[in-house]
Amino acid sequence: MPDYVIKATAGNGQIRVFAATTKEIAETARELHQTSPVVTQALGRLLTAGSLMGSMMKNDDELMTLKIAGDGPMSGLLVTADAHGNVKGYPYVSDLNDSMEAPMLVSEAIGEGSLNILKDIGLKEPYVGYSPLISGELAEDLTYYFAQSEQIPTSVSLGVLLNDDGTVRQAGGFIIQLLPDTTDDVIDSLEEALTKTPSLTKLLDQGNSLETIIANLFIDLNLKVSDQTSTRFVCDCSRQRITKALISIGKQDLVEMISDQEDIEINCDFCNKKYLFSPADLQAILNRIEEG
Ligand SMILES: [Zn+2]
Repeated sequence: MPDYVIKATAGNGQIRVFAATTKEIAETARELHQTSPVVTQALGRLLTAGSLMGSMMKNDDELMTLKIAGDGPMSGLLVTADAHGNVKGYPYVSDLNDSMEAPMLVSEAIGEGSLNILKDIGLKEPYVGYSPLISGELAEDLTYYFAQSEQIPTSVSLGVLLNDDGTVRQAGGFIIQLLPDTTDDVIDSLEEALTKTPSLTKLLDQGNSLETIIANLFIDLNLKVSDQTSTRFVCDCSRQRITKALISIGKQDLVEMISDQEDIEINCDFCNKKYLFSPADLQAILNRIEEG
């Protein structure tokens, strides 16, 4: 079943809700990057955050980059999302030699570090938000980010459940935000519901739909679903784009590459697709630059 995001409000408009199932996205990322279990979980969680936060963007042409940098063995992760449900991402290190039998925690793989959020909203300078990692499990770190950088009380949940063979069994998450005028009884009611509710991936695995899970969570809070949109892992790389990148490295470097008389292989970070350029291809690019 394709992944999707639900947007809703609750508590008479005092609460904003974004919820997503992202199993296909997380599994696609695992296949493309051949990740070991802990990396599959970390990348799946951040991609889920990308799907959710992409759906929160106000402008059609907005782009967001979520970047985690840490001193653990995975070093970090990078995810980008647009406002149309397209997400892509990659880990800095794909395979940590961990296994389903000897699981590693995401926070161990990431270590101490920071979360950077870059929003390109079409202005000259992108908006940049920053916060230190407080747990390294990502959901808590985003919760902290929203409180610190954007001053919005937020509850974030991100989960990836794996099969015994390390493939993705379930993935999903939600972001719940309180508007400034949220009354105490609504906050209390929400907190109680969140404490009582098992993890989203567990509920999905029991066969509950995302709609049912969210409806149950907000059973006393008058949930109103406003939108449901699809989300997916897409990489928009192409030979043309890579050629542009080669043009931008400049004449000098191209001349050197051609003189080596060997094929150049360029990997797309996001999807691992390989692009091969022969010395003749490179010469053609050089000719194009020289012709202006
Ligand atoms: Zn690509």
